[in-house]
Amino acid sequence: MARRRLFVTTALPYANGPFHIGHVMEYIQADIWVRFQRMQGHEVHFVGADDAHGAPIMLAAERAGKSPEAFIDEISKGRAPYLRGFHISFDNWHSTHSPENTELSQDIYRRLKKAGLVYTKPVEQFFDPVKGMFLADRYIKGECPNCGTKDQYGDACENCSTVYTATQLRNPYSTLTGARPVLKTSEHHFFKLSDPKCTSFIAQWLGTPGRLQPQVVNKAREWLEGKGDKALIDWDISRDPPYFGIRIPDIAEEKYLYVWLDAPIGYLASLKNYFVSGKAKKQGEPRSFEAFLQDPATEQVHFIGKDIIYFHTLFWPAMLEFAGKPYKVPDHVYVHGFITVSGDKMSKSRGTGISPLRYLELGMNPEWLRYYIAAKLNANVEDIDFNPDDFVARVNSDLVGKYVNIASRCAVFIQRKFDGRLAKPSDAFAFGAKAREIAGHYETREYGKALREVMALADVANQYVDENKPWDLSKQAGAEEKLHEVCSTALELFRVLTIYLKPVLPALAAQAERFLNLPDLTWAAVELPLAAGHRIHEYRHLLGRVDEKQLERLFDVASVPQPAAPQRHAEKQEHSAQERTVNEISIDDFGKLDLRVARIVKAEHVEGADKLLKLTLDVGLLGTRTVFAGIKSAYAPEKLEGKLAALVANLAPRKMKFGVSEGMVLAASWDKSDTAAAQEPGIFLISPDSGAKPGMRVK
Ligand SMILES: [Zn+2]
Repeated sequence: MARRRLFVTTALPYANGPFHIGHVMEYIQADIWVRFQRMQGHEVHFVGADDAHGAPIMLAAERAGKSPEAFIDEISKGRAPYLRGFHISFDNWHSTHSPENTELSQDIYRRLKKAGLVYTKPVEQFFDPVKGMFLADRYIKGECPNCGTKDQYGDACENCSTVYTATQLRNPYSTLTGARPVLKTSEHHFFKLSDPKCTSFIAQWLGTPGRLQPQVVNKAREWLEGKGDKALIDWDISRDPPYFGIRIPDIAEEKYLYVWLDAPIGYLASLKNYFVSGKAKKQGEPRSFEAFLQDPATEQVHFIGKDIIYFHTLFWPAMLEFAGKPYKVPDHVYVHGFITVSGDKMSKSRGTGISPLRYLELGMNPEWLRYYIAAKLNANVEDIDFNPDDFVARVNSDLVGKYVNIASRCAVFIQRKFDGRLAKPSDAFAFGAKAREIAGHYETREYGKALREVMALADVANQYVDENKPWDLSKQAGAEEKLHEVCSTALELFRVLTIYLKPVLPALAAQAERFLNLPDLTWAAVELPLAAGHRIHEYRHLLGRVDEKQLERLFDVASVPQPAAPQRHAEKQEHSAQERTVNEISIDDFGKLDLRVARIVKAEHVEGADKLLKLTLDVGLLGTRTVFAGIKSAYAPEKLEGKLAALVANLAPRKMKFGVSEGMVLAASWDKSDTAAAQEPGIFLISPDSGAKPGMRVK
């Protein structure tokens, strides 16, 4: 078999929030495929990146009081625990806000322009005169022109479902400032997707057998032929300032590339970063990024969700085709559906579903989730459902009850009776004969089918152990040889199953390799059975059962986190406010508080204020803050100086009669509603133990 050369990506997550379970599902799907290809001995380069540009990020950063760069940097730093946690084996993680992406995006823009596929024309659009920026539809609301319902977005009415353009709304207002938007004209740059050379290229690209799933080809063809909800139109690829993005090169005016143009180029930027300064470079990669990319043997494979088919099957291949070498068109775009939880659509705005971080924090095994998701996945563009009862049943019965059970029941006899050495396994079983079929399922992303085959083999192995009862043999005189063969055979079957499960369960497979005293198992190792005399290591517990209590906590309604809705730029800004009847908050709510250790540098009386003291606080890296605190009745100012306090550092500054208060120090006291209130007045400043340093986080 020829050694394949694979460049694999997952869709770039928008850098305005943490990963949700949908991201993790996609990473697991792609990671299983990648690990399978590596086990085949193929050359694989697996990269990802944050999609960091666009108005939503610019505005979110502004709301957070940060620069967009600082904002996306923080998001990017939060990625590692998820990727490590779920064993996602990216070779590189980068950002679209990077020198590589700027260079590549401007290069591709220039090449498309040179190919005659970029033109400009004036566009009239709503403009927020207060904010001084053009407004995308999602930032405009007004009354539905059909039924008059208030507060409808600029594209469709949620009440009567009428579709309209933003300019048709009655009494429109900007959701950013509340101002009435005005119509303003600006020169926009367009990518001429309707050009016959584009459309005929796309038709040919879509028609290449085996490139895409049939459902995806059909959907893309509908658009190409101008049917359905997205007729083929030229693509507006420019945005006016203020915008967080990449400058359009070679023009005097300040204009930016639309985030959706530079986002997929981020795949290439991450690959380039990996070649120029990342892991490949460090490992002595001799080829240049350009040489690797344009090598006809290189296969470019994208894993994406069904919501972004339009961009990846029309614009993206056309952009790459007409930009020319070293760029190449994608060889495959593999599309998956969404993940639902107990039949409920994973809604980003409602935040129902599973928080992947909470899953890890509860100490739940990441490979339970990898296995469960894999067991549900197939090659179609279908949604899959996370059902808690099904999850418990599958993981406990398949992984613990079938796979791990084989080793745990036999290893002890090899250790105790045979000094850890194996006999020649029986060759009555042909588990290796299934290698090709199971490999075919992994290759075509039919993971559910692959795992069903593997579990059928595990049943055969368990049946063999049950029939031969090593626990009885071990007590029978003269049955030693039989016992040795049965246990050795069972462990050989366990070894083959480990290979078959390894793309899905990399950490468990590594533990099994240590136990079996074998090197990193490849797919080809199926043909290399354990030899007589091979010595195994002591068996250690490999995998626990799902604890239903953990699962209850994962779904504990009152504490299900409501993640800040990560949104793609194409989506509407959703309302995240949720009324709660109980006064309980989630860990994520608590996480919104930025609590810091502060040192009281100075405390002063405030003229005319009978309850307040003015505190000057040293908050380490956060600098100096002024806070007015209602603690005058309890503390003399000179007693406070030098003391440590706990500060709510991200409370919006409050303008008071005596000045601006930049935060709040925490203090304990009885509330009027507390029963003991009358007897015990007093205010007690909360102070960290000595040794704490100003600026430290309180969590
Ligand atoms: Zn309406």
